[in-house]
Amino acid sequence: MSTHARKLLIAANWKMYKTPVEALDFTRTFIPLAGHHAHAEVVLCASPTLLPTVVDAVRNNPIRVAAQDMHWLDQGAYTGETSPLMLKALEVTHVLIGHSERRQYFNETDTTVNLKLKSALAHGLVPIVCVGEHLAQREAGQTADVLKLQVSIALEGIDPAAAQPLVIAYEPVWAIGTGRTATPEIADEAHQLIRAEIAKALSPELAASTRILYGGSVKPDNAASLCCLDDIDGALVGGASLDPNSFAQIVANSATA
Ligand code: PEP
Repeated sequence: MSTHARKLLIAANWKMYKTPVEALDFTRTFIPLAGHHAHAEVVLCASPTLLPTVVDAVRNNPIRVAAQDMHWLDQGAYTGETSPLMLKALEVTHVLIGHSERRQYFNETDTTVNLKLKSALAHGLVPIVCVGEHLAQREAGQTADVLKLQVSIALEGIDPAAAQPLVIAYEPVWAIGTGRTATPEIADEAHQLIRAEIAKALSPELAASTRILYGGSVKPDNAASLCCLDDIDGALVGGASLDPNSFAQIVANSATA
């Protein structure tokens, strides 16, 4: 059993996959396998079309449900967007903010990440803020600068007294969906840097209590080595979270780290 300083969080990012019927199939298989693990919080990040179905399906066990994005405003003329009030009304508890696919394809910027983070905290949603460098940035030796900038802008103007629920996900863009993972050493180094940046922007106490997840081609066979080093507090899992057996295995393997 893990003796980790912070409770692990293992999140599934289903991206733009699954219909409601497929989501229900997943939960029916997944809940008996991993729904009652005590060593980790488990969160399913689903498309807005799936949220009511998934919230209902996990109602009597500790699995939580997240949106994959949200607008920062409560309401308005923003066609196609989802507001924090809408998520709260559906009993969604968590929200991904600034996933690299949002940054790459939908003009998400550090500034909108900051607005969304403030809004999520104000509405009592647990924010999972994603940061990470591109391959060219890593190869140019810019990883530390990129991560510091992403974290410092995301946390600009955040009241430390309200930031306790904050979760950060370190997702090197070159490792997402590529089958190429960061080595545990690379991930641990990035996590230490992110933790130091949280200490600067918020407080050393918050830096010590904030969970920092690793994301990027986490699979059942690398989960134990990648998601639970001293400074790594769980995983954000894309492709391998679509299958309930594979995701349950990741949750189980994270306990052996
Ligand atoms: C992700 O979607 O956040 C992710 C890490 O994807 P994958 O596990 O497929 O690399």
